Amino acid sequence: MATIGFIGLGNMGGPMALNLVKAGHDVRAFDLSPDTIKIAQEGGCSVADTAIDAVEDAEVVITMLPAGKHVVAVYDEICPYVSAHTLMIDCSTIDIESAKAAHDMAASVGAVSVDAPVSGGIMGAINGTLTFMAGGNDGALDRAEPILEPMGSRTVRCGAVTAGQAAKVCNNMILAVTMIGTCEAFEMGKRLGLEDQALFDVVSTASGQSWSTTTYCPVPGPVPTSPANNDYKPGFAAALMLKDLGLAQEAAEQSGASTPLGNHAYELYQKFCADGHGDVDFSGIIKMLQSEKK
Ligand code: NAD
Repeated sequence: MATIGFIGLGNMGGPMALNLVKAGHDVRAFDLSPDTIKIAQEGGCSVADTAIDAVEDAEVVITMLPAGKHVVAVYDEICPYVSAHTLMIDCSTIDIESAKAAHDMAASVGAVSVDAPVSGGIMGAINGTLTFMAGGNDGALDRAEPILEPMGSRTVRCGAVTAGQAAKVCNNMILAVTMIGTCEAFEMGKRLGLEDQALFDVVSTASGQSWSTTTYCPVPGPVPTSPANNDYKPGFAAALMLKDLGLAQEAAEQSGASTPLGNHAYELYQKFCADGHGDVDFSGIIKMLQSEKK
């Protein structure tokens, strides 16, 4: 079992740290918010007074922070204090440039590093069923997999450093585009006199099929567990989808990729959030379409 410094104990990091404790690891937890530290302590983590205290002599360091600037600032602070050969895993969803900077900082002190953003949301973090999208060299990934295991059901090796972040933004761009397309189709179907269930029965087994229909159907009824049946409570909040689409647009800019639908999805979620629906599930964007008429 390893000594793990865990920095960032929010909605995702808090339950992830507790799953590491349950697996028998010695977890030293740090967050800027005393409330999150208290919960981590009650769950069996030991409390570090600073990020540096969390990582000194730790064999593994895990970060789960809001954005790239937080990860770069924390790495800048802790890297001089991590031991050589420490395994550093960043599970935050961040821009590729910051991810690369974090890997470089780790390498400069002899540590090995993995970017391992997640999908599966807060329930996945609580239940230990996250999917990790991992980027790093083979040696680092070999060491990371058993550490990630108690927090997730699967780790996908995506390639070299930053490949995990690349996979995450690509996946979520597809998700946003398919969700908007699915919402458009269900709303148009309704206006054409189609029952939601009838359209679901066709689309879920035909070529229009996607996760946005079969697991997360944006109208109440066909998939009883989808947020549409719970007044569009998240789930996955529109504000988080907007963040990921912003990262996708940055990645498109950097790589020269043409992403007209990704860009349009970004603009639509920007509008949805600016209208005050950032805390609504991202499938709730159907309400915006329902309120509009061509
Ligand atoms: P959160 O805001 O709940 O938690 C982030 C935590 O980081 C907070 O507790 C904050 O106090 C702490 N923090 C910020 N700066 C810090 C610093 N310098 N030192 C120590 N702690 C610091 O966010 P979250 O929902 O847990 O998300 C974390 C990451 O996971 C984000 O990158 C997010 O995009 C990603 N993610 C979230 C979800 C989700 O459903 N919430 C799903 C997939 C991925």
